[in-house]
Amino acid sequence: MPKAQETVLEINLKALEHNFDYLKSKLKPETKFIAVVKAYAYGSDSCEIALYLEKLGVDYFAVAYIEEGVALRQGGVTTPILVLHPQIVNFDILVENRLEPSLYNEKILKEFIEALSKEHITNYPVHIKFNTGLNRLGFWHTDVKMIDNLLAETKTIKVKSILSHLAASEDLNEKIFTLNQIEDFKNIAENFTKQVGYKPLHHICNTSGILNYPEAHFDMVRSGIGLYGFGNSEKENQFFKPIGTLKTVISQIHTIIEGESIGYNRGYIATENLRSATLPIGHADGIGRQYGHGKGFVTINGKRAPIMGNVCMDMIMVNVTDIDCDEGDEVIVFGEHPNAETLAETANTISYELITHISQRVMRVII
Ligand code: PLP
Repeated sequence: MPKAQETVLEINLKALEHNFDYLKSKLKPETKFIAVVKAYAYGSDSCEIALYLEKLGVDYFAVAYIEEGVALRQGGVTTPILVLHPQIVNFDILVENRLEPSLYNEKILKEFIEALSKEHITNYPVHIKFNTGLNRLGFWHTDVKMIDNLLAETKTIKVKSILSHLAASEDLNEKIFTLNQIEDFKNIAENFTKQVGYKPLHHICNTSGILNYPEAHFDMVRSGIGLYGFGNSEKENQFFKPIGTLKTVISQIHTIIEGESIGYNRGYIATENLRSATLPIGHADGIGRQYGHGKGFVTINGKRAPIMGNVCMDMIMVNVTDIDCDEGDEVIVFGEHPNAETLAETANTISYELITHISQRVMRVII
């Protein structure tokens, strides 16, 4: 058995490359690729991931917030960066760092134009987001004329792309809804191009959109979860490789006698004699309390060890009665088998949540 030192998240860049190549193989050679690296590249390490993807020839990055874009620039990333949800108060920082905002309503568009005018900046690249059914952020299709009027009055900005976001691209039961979103986006894009007199890039697909709706790849796609190793079905998952393996170690093994309790609030009362292993990973590391009480599990020596009792801040206790293991042995929380999706399902959630919750205290090791 390999001996682990502590809890670490191993990040496999070759797996990232495999996922990138797989997604690219679904696209026409001329379709541009935006790698979504928000939330620490879905809980991994945004700079390492971005610098590697930059070497592989990615066209763009997307982050949610300005600060995430600044971190990439400070890490040496030079590729264009789209900020999906910029905050107006920080526009000066956005411009200083050559970040490109997604503008989604009249207020933010006007404020940005004003901020640029004050600095006498012209032709600053921006992205205009339309709402086609997610009802989260975005202009309405009826706003095209108003946007065109604002653009006609200023030389401050240049619309580099127009985008929208699919609400249910992973759910084939919602195919009609998604096809309607795509159709609406196409119409908006054509209308926009006619109004402003030039054609910005068009993009709407996330990972599931890339896989399920090739007709909607348009000029660019935006992928997050696929890069990190997850598709939208068991079948698709076979083609991806999870890039992250969360590993820990057995700190201590206890023999528990029937009737004794384990952990805070006596969360589990043993119904028989058992062996319990204590592991240095808890809710402060991203394994929340919803994984407690026999829901979540880890893998030791290829066997499942269910979590017993409540998840503590820094530790969990798992049942190793039937597992040949010792103090100091390596423990897999998630990786290739089982993957984060399997563990997430035990707590009724999705891989996106589990992987982005792995806290910054867990050391990232690039392999
Ligand atoms: N585009 C936008 C606007 C997003 O918010 C996200 C992720 O939430 C993505 C693309 C990437 O989606 P996925 O991780 O499903 O590929």
